[in-house]
Amino acid sequence: MQQMLKGKKALVTGGTAGIGREIALQFARQGASVAIFGTNEERAKAVLEELEKAKISEEQKFAYYLVDVAHSKNVEGTVANILKDWSHIDILVNNAGITRDNLLMRMSEEDWDLVVDVNLKSVYNTCRVLARSMMKARSGKIINITSVIGLTGNAGQTNYAASKSGMIGFSKSLAKELASRNVCVNCIAPGYIETQMTQELPAQVKEAVLSKIPLSRIGQPSDIAYAALFLASDLANYITGQVLTVDGGMVI
Ligand code: NDP
Repeated sequence: MQQMLKGKKALVTGGTAGIGREIALQFARQGASVAIFGTNEERAKAVLEELEKAKISEEQKFAYYLVDVAHSKNVEGTVANILKDWSHIDILVNNAGITRDNLLMRMSEEDWDLVVDVNLKSVYNTCRVLARSMMKARSGKIINITSVIGLTGNAGQTNYAASKSGMIGFSKSLAKELASRNVCVNCIAPGYIETQMTQELPAQVKEAVLSKIPLSRIGQPSDIAYAALFLASDLANYITGQVLTVDGGMVI
């Protein structure tokens, strides 16, 4: 199917790498204008070039913004600028995320705060400033990238699991708040996806994870991008408040 997002305007946080980069590119291939948030300028520039190459219509626009999604004032200012230039955003993907794994007994307050702020407070930051314009437009799609860890928990990831479960509760609540204005809010819970985030795990951990995936392969960023494309498109206009797990069957 082509041009599923023709004329739409999307914002993807953490669009400079991994899953977010692939979502941004997939949206561009389907006709959307895409703005990405990240903090690494080199990667942001490289993705911007890729987006330009992926476009299918001269009307599509692309931009990157160097913004730390954990800081509400930075997000507020940047989104205000985007809305000035682009008038509105149809699709928001909250994808930026980090891990700082440790057992609770060894977890510093700094690592707790950082993970919760980047993964969860960021979602409050972007949704709060974009919900108003989506409500006014009486349409919009918000897609929050949580994790299977937010569903199951995982030893050594109390901060990450709390932030990812928090995203789910937040999304279900916001879905109820915005449904009357035709704004849909959903989550995608990826399983184990091959990106920089998972590359750093030791080989034996990777093998143990693989043995628990019924579809017998590690996921690719494109597996998540296709799910995001579906939820962002008109095919998902009657779906809100849901968590779509994309994990090769890890959590059944
Ligand atoms: P990567 O580490 O490959 O990419 C993370 C992205 O988040 C980068 O673009 C990075 O941008 C951005 N980012 C990190 N911190 C900030 C910040 N403070 N402000 C703005 N942007 C930030 O991770 P993945 O692609 O693997 O993960 C993407 C999402 O998917 C995350 O939310 C993650 O929790 C989730 N997920 C991933 C899984 C996996 O197996 N990979 C499994 C389940 C969920 P920059 O470097 O430019 O700052």
